[in-house]
Amino acid sequence: MIRNPPPWPNSARCAVGFSFDVDADSVVHAGKRGGVVDEVHAVAQMRYDPHVGLPRLVDLFAGYDVPITCFVPGWVIDTYRKPVEHILTGRNEIAHHGMFHEWPSQQGIDAEREALAAGIARIEDLTGKAPRGYRAPYYGLSRNSFDLLIEAGFLYDSSLFADDVPILLQSDSGRLVELPPPASVDDYNQYVSSRAFDYLMTISPPNRALEVYKAEFDALWEWGGLFVPVWHPAVSGRPGPAMAIRALIEHMIGKGNVWFATLEEIAAHVDGLVASGAWSPRVERIPFYDRPVLT
Ligand SMILES: [Zn+2]
Repeated sequence: MIRNPPPWPNSARCAVGFSFDVDADSVVHAGKRGGVVDEVHAVAQMRYDPHVGLPRLVDLFAGYDVPITCFVPGWVIDTYRKPVEHILTGRNEIAHHGMFHEWPSQQGIDAEREALAAGIARIEDLTGKAPRGYRAPYYGLSRNSFDLLIEAGFLYDSSLFADDVPILLQSDSGRLVELPPPASVDDYNQYVSSRAFDYLMTISPPNRALEVYKAEFDALWEWGGLFVPVWHPAVSGRPGPAMAIRALIEHMIGKGNVWFATLEEIAAHVDGLVASGAWSPRVERIPFYDRPVLT
């Protein structure tokens, strides 16, 4: 069981923050750089995201009045403005996911700060306000990432498979709320088999993936946890997986007592609980290690 679950609004049994990483073909540019012009197959596969998968999913969730949080690289906002604007037709959130989907741990601190600022500017231009949340491209956080996020005024991160409930990340420069996704619910593990990406997994039938998602959700519902799936419109926006998502939403609604919220709303709730003293989350001091244990 979860030892110290937070009190959720309206005595809900658990919180659900559906999240999508809207990468489009930023990952192809980040990975192949100058070679992208010959990556026709990979680009086409990832353009499915803004042109087909994303609008399908935004409309699917709107039909249930369930909000979603979309982590969108700045370059994707520039390149696919209309599909990204469609996210804002619902009570959804747009959060930060790099500028070109760069790998933060492969950048120096200045380049990482610059990418963060560029992505913030694109989101501000789109939504009229700065993003409050961040997910590292490839989950590839650097030793500097959290301090840079605190410096830039972020409220939360959602990159660490660190717990079953929100935690606080505390550094000398401030703190962040961490909204941890369960390690089992990234859709790449279920559905992606792509020669173009050298990523050849056995593709699960959507019913099988759904069993994995449902098992995780049912346990978190039972014990008062936080369910944050990490899904991608290029993957979960395809017809079979999208139908599985529809079945999962209906399963959740059928169980009842679920708080569906954006990650920003969940982080703000946690921040409020901490400020009032109503709940004390686990606190992780960061950085975990400022020097190696073994050399
Ligand atoms: Zn991504």
